[in-house]
Amino acid sequence: MIDIHSFLLALGVGNIAFAVLMAGYTHGAAPSPGLRLWMWARFGMGLCQLLGWCRPFLNVPALHGLEGAGWVLAVTLEVAAYCIFFGLERWQRVLLPIAALSLAIVLAAGSAGAPVVYLTALVSGVVALFAAAMAWILLRPRRRASLLQRIIGVNDAVFAVSVALWAASCLTGEAPMGLRAAQESAYLAGYLLMIVNGFGFLLLCKEKDDAEMARLATTDCLTGLPNRHAFLERAEHARQAALRQRQPLALAMMDIDHFKQINDRFGHATGDEALTVFARTVRETLRAHETVGRLGGEEFAMVLPGTDLGGALQAAERLRQAVREATVITSGTGYTMTVSIGVVVLDPNETLGMALARADHALYAAKSGGRDRVEAGMPQQRRA
Ligand code: GH3
Ligand code: MG
Ligand code: MG
Repeated sequence: MIDIHSFLLALGVGNIAFAVLMAGYTHGAAPSPGLRLWMWARFGMGLCQLLGWCRPFLNVPALHGLEGAGWVLAVTLEVAAYCIFFGLERWQRVLLPIAALSLAIVLAAGSAGAPVVYLTALVSGVVALFAAAMAWILLRPRRRASLLQRIIGVNDAVFAVSVALWAASCLTGEAPMGLRAAQESAYLAGYLLMIVNGFGFLLLCKEKDDAEMARLATTDCLTGLPNRHAFLERAEHARQAALRQRQPLALAMMDIDHFKQINDRFGHATGDEALTVFARTVRETLRAHETVGRLGGEEFAMVLPGTDLGGALQAAERLRQAVREATVITSGTGYTMTVSIGVVVLDPNETLGMALARADHALYAAKSGGRDRVEAGMPQQRRA
């Protein structure tokens, strides 16, 4: 048996403490989308719970309707926070009319002096509906939800079911479960919701921020390709996989020809555009399991798993042609961008750095040989 009255106080204090914590966290910072709304939702729920706790002492009938309206507003804010966080479009069109209608009904029922048990059933029904909406947002089919999202979503669904059962029990008196048992399980689910949703929303924000930080740390912001660090990491993974599977692995170094002239003739912005066009061209030429990265400036490299020297030379030649045909719009039709490419196949006895150095050597040979060409690197043994 739960002492529901004291439990209400604990829930109210807990939710307000979460809101205060969030106010401190978001103060002076740029919080994740939805976090501020979510903070107000927690605050609203906490206030409603404290109001519920005060009710027997105050004995003011008007407070029933006010408390119910507070609940509708608080759950609306929470659903809105999730909609904004997950970037749902046009959510206002659905949520706001339902929230306004629910609010009007609850206020009308409260001011008409509806019996507390019916008012409770009404507000619980609305809260259950909104909690189900949150569960749906988190567990939407066809969307790949993270494990964290699924845990929070299931918790919302449990809360929705237990509050709906409480609403049903209020209406029917006893069935489908005892009124007291239904109320207790709804309060327990509310406690779980406070903890899981309380920390959960914050962790969702952190999960999103971490993913964005990882993307920024590994992506070249101009071309969108993996940066040097990320490329070398992926190339090393590919090297180890190739050694394990006894498969060939081709590597290529690429350098745009006379790139300085693009900057000098057309300006730095056109140079940037040329780099973007080059990156897009390479991406379109490569297959899904092949990787290209920007090593720096106008130097790029690629890894072609499962490709021998013949295949790699063909791929590089295809790329060279594609780059010739690609247009850098702001430089006009008079300019043709070309690239020189050095290609090697990994020797099982060499490190990634050694293979890339051989590819770089081949690239140098392509430059000395007149540019706009592909050169194969010498096998490791013969160079040694
Ligand atoms: P080569 O055919 O021998 O490769 O000659 P190049 O002119 O391409 O080579 P060089 O290394 O002399 O010049 C590279 C130029 O690339 C110099 C640098 O200003 C420019 N560059 C490097 N990074 C960027 C960038 O992000 N944007 C732009 N627009 N230019 C860049
Ligand atoms: Mg160059
Ligand atoms: Mg260069």
